[in-house]
Amino acid sequence: MSGESKHLDSVPSDGLQQTDAGALSAEVPAQSGASPPDGGASPAASGIPSSAASSPAAAVDWPALLTAAREVRLRAHAPYSRFAVGAAVLDEHGRVHAGCNVENAAYPQGWCAETSALAAMVSSGGRLVRAVVVVGEAAEPVTPCGGCRQKLREFAADDCPVVCADTVRQRARYTLGQLLPASFGPAHLGPQVDADGVQSAGAASARSGDDPR
Ligand SMILES: [Zn+2]
Repeated sequence: MSGESKHLDSVPSDGLQQTDAGALSAEVPAQSGASPPDGGASPAASGIPSSAASSPAAAVDWPALLTAAREVRLRAHAPYSRFAVGAAVLDEHGRVHAGCNVENAAYPQGWCAETSALAAMVSSGGRLVRAVVVVGEAAEPVTPCGGCRQKLREFAADDCPVVCADTVRQRARYTLGQLLPASFGPAHLGPQVDADGVQSAGAASARSGDDPR
């Protein structure tokens, strides 16, 4: 039942892909990746405050994220594509939430690993994504699809780091702003009214503070 396919275990031995956000020099940049990147796309274009993602408290435990994404990938339900993907997100409380892709015999009803990870985060109360890891095996680094980039955008700032890895190493690193430039987000809708009737500036306000609630 695991959509796992052992032939996917062959790992390209070529070098890491370089991105504008900087090359990955090693499997786990525990030191260099401990702080959010500052060279990402400008948040001004989309109106997303980047203060939250740039918070000093936003240290990222990349090994934990990579491990979570790799482990959950093994539980992917991908009997049709045989393309197993795992994703992990770090929330504003420092918690890691993971999810895998879940395919369906009615193909369009399946969904992506990033979507599963976001659902897990929201279900447990998280409302801010500080870092993302996506794990898949392919010739090119497995990046979030367009739909998932938008889903991530709901909870992440432009400078949120997105690391693409395989089962052995990191392959590429981007910011969400690089993957989804000039995006549409919660701030475009203006102040929102929460379910309890409290008016706020929407999810964007959550990104500007340490605790949205
Ligand atoms: Zn997707």
